[in-house]
Amino acid sequence: MTLRLYNTLSGQIEELGAPTGKPLGIYACGPTVYDYGHIGNFRTFVHVDILRRFLEQQGVPLRHVMNITDVDDKIMRNAAASGQSIGDYTAKYEKAFLEDLDSLGVEKPECLARATEHIPQMVNLVQQLVQRGCAYRGENGSYYFRIASFPGYGKLSKKDLAGMEDGARVDVDEYDKDSARDFALWKAAAPGEFHWDTPLGPGRPGWHIECSAMATEYLGESFDLHAGGEDLMFPHHENEIAQSESASGTVFARHWMHVRFLLVEGKKMSKSLGNFYTLRDLLLRGYKASAIRFLLTSVPYRNQLNFTFDGLVESTHAVERLRIFAARLHKGNFPTGVNAQLAQATEQAGKAFTSALEDDLNTAEARAAIFDLVRLANSHADRGELHAENVGPILDVLAKFDAVFAVLEDRDDAVTRSALEWAEHEQRLQDAAPEVIARFSITEDAIEQLIAERNAARKSRNFARADAIRQELAGKGILLEDSADGVRWRRK
Ligand code: AMP
Ligand code: ZN
Repeated sequence: MTLRLYNTLSGQIEELGAPTGKPLGIYACGPTVYDYGHIGNFRTFVHVDILRRFLEQQGVPLRHVMNITDVDDKIMRNAAASGQSIGDYTAKYEKAFLEDLDSLGVEKPECLARATEHIPQMVNLVQQLVQRGCAYRGENGSYYFRIASFPGYGKLSKKDLAGMEDGARVDVDEYDKDSARDFALWKAAAPGEFHWDTPLGPGRPGWHIECSAMATEYLGESFDLHAGGEDLMFPHHENEIAQSESASGTVFARHWMHVRFLLVEGKKMSKSLGNFYTLRDLLLRGYKASAIRFLLTSVPYRNQLNFTFDGLVESTHAVERLRIFAARLHKGNFPTGVNAQLAQATEQAGKAFTSALEDDLNTAEARAAIFDLVRLANSHADRGELHAENVGPILDVLAKFDAVFAVLEDRDDAVTRSALEWAEHEQRLQDAAPEVIARFSITEDAIEQLIAERNAARKSRNFARADAIRQELAGKGILLEDSADGVRWRRK
């Protein structure tokens, strides 16, 4: 295995260490389940999936852990405001998140860990930190990590801590880049607030301790790779390192991968700018899940991705082109023998694909290698110069591509249909484009029935009725094709 991956900690591209005899341990920060996932979140999750699928392709056994943050400041606030328990409040978003991952073809990690199911481990870690003099109890009953006790603080984000005030504290889970302060490990409950009763007193964990405790629980004190979006580098990951290394005295994660942010039409995605999209928003507007996944991988993970609707349309066409090409190879009749030039190009494309991904997961180059092959093979096929023995190796290269990019299998209609069902259930059908609603408002049985009726009308020379049926189906996005062996239909 020769994956060379940028390591935020060392600031260098390094071979991702494959330990002997043990699965490669990956901890990737998961979602905070207080709302539906947006396309920025999914850019990060899809790139971790690309990493995971590529490692699997290289034969590396994995142990990939993802946390579900199901308690934090925002969740506590929103659950209280909606009069729900935090469990009821988060269950809906956790379910939606897992469905969204599946819609995007993201493989499940080996281990999904909910924060609320690991409170004893977190309490234990806080106690260890207190014993070692790295944490203290504030007069309000909350516990804080003393960052002055950890000389390595700032080594991941390369923050300059000059001017840092010893003992200055911050109580919120998320805070800005200027706040290198003692952060809360355990938050004492305010009167009447939801809490766990623990040896630390009634309260709840801070966000950072959660990941340290669960990473250690499932991967040990030291493990291979920790991943997340670039915003997590500071303070979240810096704090994880401080907590874990102070408790264990050893290196926490050896390699750190950070996915850069997605922008929308050149701007930071935000609700106030009106450019904020969940995956479900896009599905309801008629964009295909495969095209969204493909767009999210168009730029390597260390570059910003500028999401645009033009780009999404292009991705839709690109996926379509690949699927048509695969179908052509599967169904076509090709002359016997082999085209040696094409055979050589096929072999090279397969190698170029792998070496692009080995080179810090360069998804853009890996895709380019495949599209070059598709272009070449199509032009050979057009001239009758793609031979039967070329087909197998080209399909092998496509399969290799798809084991990582996962866009060839067409599950798009099923995904959109379930997004519509969800919208109906949540009374959000007004978010769906009318043509999407129309398209899925007719069942396959009803289509077949109308086609039979149209055939009968044509037989009895009632062309007006036959035309009306064609129109009615077209209005629902169903196109009819009359052919020698009868009428075929497809969705637009
Ligand atoms: P959250 O649910 O906010 O904790 O975020 C889940 C994951 O999405 C984290 O790894 C974040 O770093 C990542 N993330 C959030 N916004 C973006 C964005 N605009 N682009 C890429 N990744 C993001
Ligand atoms: Zn985390």
